[in-house]
Amino acid sequence: MRIWLDGGLQDIESARVSVFDHGLTVGDGIFETVKAVDGRTFALTRHLDRLTRSARGLGLPDPDHDEVRRACAAVLEANPMPLGRLRITYTGGHGPLGSDRGEHGPTLVVALGETTRRPDSTAVITVPWTRNERGALTGLKTTSYAENVVALARAHQHGASEALFANTVGQLCEGTGSNVFVVLDGEIHTPPVASGCLAGITRALAVEWTGAKETDLPLDVLQRADEVFLTSTLRDVQAVHRVDERELPGAPGPVTAKAMRIFEERSGDDLDP
Ligand code: PLP
Repeated sequence: MRIWLDGGLQDIESARVSVFDHGLTVGDGIFETVKAVDGRTFALTRHLDRLTRSARGLGLPDPDHDEVRRACAAVLEANPMPLGRLRITYTGGHGPLGSDRGEHGPTLVVALGETTRRPDSTAVITVPWTRNERGALTGLKTTSYAENVVALARAHQHGASEALFANTVGQLCEGTGSNVFVVLDGEIHTPPVASGCLAGITRALAVEWTGAKETDLPLDVLQRADEVFLTSTLRDVQAVHRVDERELPGAPGPVTAKAMRIFEERSGDDLDP
């Protein structure tokens, strides 16, 4: 595996980042996960725009989009695979111990992992911990993901692949690595970004392509929704067949199945040349 670091390709076995890199010591970093199909990236411009928004939110210098594009192309060329995920990590760089940033510039790493298609439906749990809809990091895709790691581990203990959070006022928010949609009386709804969720790129495309409404929803909507589905770069549109103890037999239901079809048909247009 060849990855991008310090302006060029390096072998993953010998590539080194400082042990004082602030991405490691204080989680001062941001990232993007980008789908790559047969060496072509999906919606890379949207990911780069979000990377810049996250950088500005953290006070990191704007990432150089041309360099990130070059890095993605080089890593994809060096590691051919049918379906992969590029991981772009951009941190505060080498700094002093403690939270002050040092003089060094940011660290950019681009790596690639192989992925497989997710099953059409999955189980999810809800967790008792909340997303903060008004925090300094709300809506930023930072590398401070430990809360998601804990919640996802709990999901796996319960035979589920995703854990869903409410926000501090009890509204449905998002999963550890996905956005959530519900179907009520034939209409598709998803929590607004003001709920504290990440502005998911798959979410935005699903809203655009299905006409889903952005609606404040209580967490217990999951116990009465006709259908529930998740969106993310790695899942695309994925139906939910169990929420906690509640079974949703026949998932994907008709509305979710249509959303999956629309996403599959239209997403080819967002593959980069
Ligand atoms: N919410 C969180 C917390 C995420 O980490 C992700 C993706 O990793 C998403 C939502 C889905 O976003 P996207 O569709 O851009 O992958």
